[in-house]
Amino acid sequence: MRRVYMDHNATTPVHPEVLEAMMPFFREHFGNASSIHWAGREVRQYLDEAREKVAALLHASPEEVIFTGCGTESDNMAIKGVAFALREKGRHIITTQVEHHAVLHTCQFLEKVGFRVTYLPVDGEGMIDLEELRRAITKETILITIMFANNETGTIFPVREIGKMAREKGVTFHTDAVQAVGKVPVDLQQLPIDLLSLSGHKLYAPKGIGAQYIRKGIRVTSLIHGGAQERNWRAGTENIPYIIGLGKASEMALRDLPKRRAYLAGLRDRLYQGLTERIPHMKLNGHATQRLPNTLNLSFLYIEGESLLLNLDLEDIAVSSGSACTSGSLDPSHVLLAMGIPPEIAQSSIRFSLGWNNSEEDVDYVIEVLPRIVQRLRDISPLYNKRMGTLK
Ligand code: PLP
Repeated sequence: MRRVYMDHNATTPVHPEVLEAMMPFFREHFGNASSIHWAGREVRQYLDEAREKVAALLHASPEEVIFTGCGTESDNMAIKGVAFALREKGRHIITTQVEHHAVLHTCQFLEKVGFRVTYLPVDGEGMIDLEELRRAITKETILITIMFANNETGTIFPVREIGKMAREKGVTFHTDAVQAVGKVPVDLQQLPIDLLSLSGHKLYAPKGIGAQYIRKGIRVTSLIHGGAQERNWRAGTENIPYIIGLGKASEMALRDLPKRRAYLAGLRDRLYQGLTERIPHMKLNGHATQRLPNTLNLSFLYIEGESLLLNLDLEDIAVSSGSACTSGSLDPSHVLLAMGIPPEIAQSSIRFSLGWNNSEEDVDYVIEVLPRIVQRLRDISPLYNKRMGTLK
C-alpha cells in the first residue's frame, strides 16, 4: 500500500542533502564555536556561512540573524523581548485571534504581567481588516505581532501594509513567518518588517532549530542570559550541526523556491479539483487567492474531522485536523472559530499540507480513497440523510 504524508505544516522530513551537510558536524567538526583554537575556529567559519545562507533567503544581512532553538522560542524572544525593552514607552500589544499558540500564549502571559493585548478578529477568509488595525493602535502601542501566513488555512496576511502602518505610527512590527519562509518569497529589503521568526523543521531542516531576524536598530531585551553567543541575544553553545542544516535548507529554499511554489500549487489545485468533483457538501477554509501554495483546509460537512483523520490513517494517509500542537484536543480549531465558522463545521475540517516529496500519484491516491471514506462516515452520520442524499 502507498504511504502518503500530507502534513508538512506540522513538520517536514529532513532533506537528504541537509542531512548530508550536517553529518561532518557530528563527527570531525565537533568544536565549540567560541573556542579560539583550530577546532573552534573552523566551526566558527561554518557557523558564519550558515548565517549568511539564512540571511540570503530573507534578503537580510547576516548580523540581523540570530539562531534559536525553534519557532516557538523565536516568537517568545521577539514578543517578550520587545515588550520588556519598550515597557517604559507603553504596554499595549496588537495581535490577531488566529495566531499560533506560540504567539497567543506568549501574549496571554504578558497580559498577566501588566500588558494589554488587542486580539484582532478576522473575516470569513481568515483575513484582518487593516482599518480595524489602524483604529486599534494607540499612543500606548509598542508592538504589532501578526503572522505572515496561517498554519491551518494558509491565509497570507498583508504584511507589507501592516508594516507600513506600524512604521507610520512608530510601532515595532513582528511577524511569525514559520509557515511562510521557504514557501513564498520573503524579502526583507522590500518588506517593512522589524522582527521575523522562522523554524527549521518547516523547511526540511531538523526539529529544534529556529532563527530570529532582528532589523538593525530594533530594541529587544534578551531572554536567555549566560555566555556571549549570538552577540548576547541568545546565550548557550551554538547547536552547530542543526545550524548547518538550517543553512543548507535555506540555501536550497532560495534556489528552488519558484520551482517548489509552482509544483506545490499544482498539486494542491489538483487535489482540490479532484475532491470537489467527487465529494458534495465540502467547503474550502481560508483565502481563495492569498493562500500558501501547499495548504488546503477543507470542511466535510456532517462528519467529524477526527474520524476522517483516523480513517485516512488506516489507509496510510497522514493529514491533520488543525495544528499539530492542538491535536489530541477535541475542541474545534480557534482559527476556524475566529473565522465565524460554526463549531460543527470547524470540527469537520481537515488540513492537507503538501511538500516537495509529494507526487501526483499521492494526490490521486487521496482523491481515490477519501470520497469512499466520506461517504461511509456520512452513511452512519445521524446528521446526514442517506436515503435522500440531502440534509435533514
Ligand atoms: N508558529 C507557527 C505559525 C507554526 O505553525 C509553528 C509550528 O507549527 C510554530 C510557530 C512553532 O514552531 P516550532 O515547532 O519550531 O516551535
